[in-house]
Amino acid sequence: MQHTVAKNIPLTDIGLHSGVETTMTIKPAEADTGIVIVRSDVTDRDNVIPVRYDNVIDTRLCTVVGNDAGVTVGTVEHIMAALRACDIDNAILEMDGPEIPIYDGSSRPFMKAIDAAGVKALAAPRRAIRITKEVRVEDGDKWVVLKPGVGSSFDVTIDFENKSIGTQNAKLDLYTQDFESQMSDARTFGFLHEVNALRQQGLALGGSLENAVVIDGDKIMNPEGTRYDNEFARHKLLDAVGDIYLAGGVILGQYESFKAGHAMNNKALRALFAQPEAFEIVDLFVDRTIHPCTSSIEKRTNLFDQNASQDEKSIVPSEAA
Ligand SMILES: [Zn+2]
Repeated sequence: MQHTVAKNIPLTDIGLHSGVETTMTIKPAEADTGIVIVRSDVTDRDNVIPVRYDNVIDTRLCTVVGNDAGVTVGTVEHIMAALRACDIDNAILEMDGPEIPIYDGSSRPFMKAIDAAGVKALAAPRRAIRITKEVRVEDGDKWVVLKPGVGSSFDVTIDFENKSIGTQNAKLDLYTQDFESQMSDARTFGFLHEVNALRQQGLALGGSLENAVVIDGDKIMNPEGTRYDNEFARHKLLDAVGDIYLAGGVILGQYESFKAGHAMNNKALRALFAQPEAFEIVDLFVDRTIHPCTSSIEKRTNLFDQNASQDEKSIVPSEAA
């Protein structure tokens, strides 16, 4: 079954790069809508942007989507990670500004809000994109690989010369491990020495210690320090989950990356969809036994009990194999 949110979820905060305060309301949507942004503040031209890999127009510091009318929205990756982790297939993100609210720079505030509102099942089969052949993209020493495998797993390695970061790895299978408790609160990060240059380009205008881990030389400026020894790798994994959800559905298979970011993630999706033999669309009857949006588990189990046939209920997530 596909899912949407049970009711409107209004969220207001500034954007990390624009600094502009924006209200984004996550609204329920019909089956097969996908995730679609509507810019309610734009009334003189097409204000609808499907949040899909082929609408990505900028990946310098965040993932920006846009339409043919030149209407754009920035920093979609953290809300997309939350929607993926909460198994939301369909939603309208109604916005009155140019960038998704940043909150603490992680996905957890979005997950908590979706969790509180609840998740609603829709009477339509859920489809997934199963990787059938390895796809690899490279740029210098950076790479991303999408390959066949059980579950929906992410394995991210980063390698920075900066001593506060260094080499870090994070791994998670969305089907057997809990994204919300392990990854969703990992925050975005940046370097103080880059902030002035970014601001001259109109970026990082809303950035602060409230919504990012900021590194000055080899020191972390945030008085609270980091939330994990490998918070930076965990955040890159969160970004990858969000960016890869721009595929337009759940990916079944394995994602691995080295020193990659938004640009490489988008390049990987474009390479995947350019090769029809590298994937197939499959029905996904049961999502999984563990769900990070915890209060939704019971509601959803009830829905499955009422509506699903015995066969559907007995299918385990490894149907992807
Ligand atoms: Zn991020």
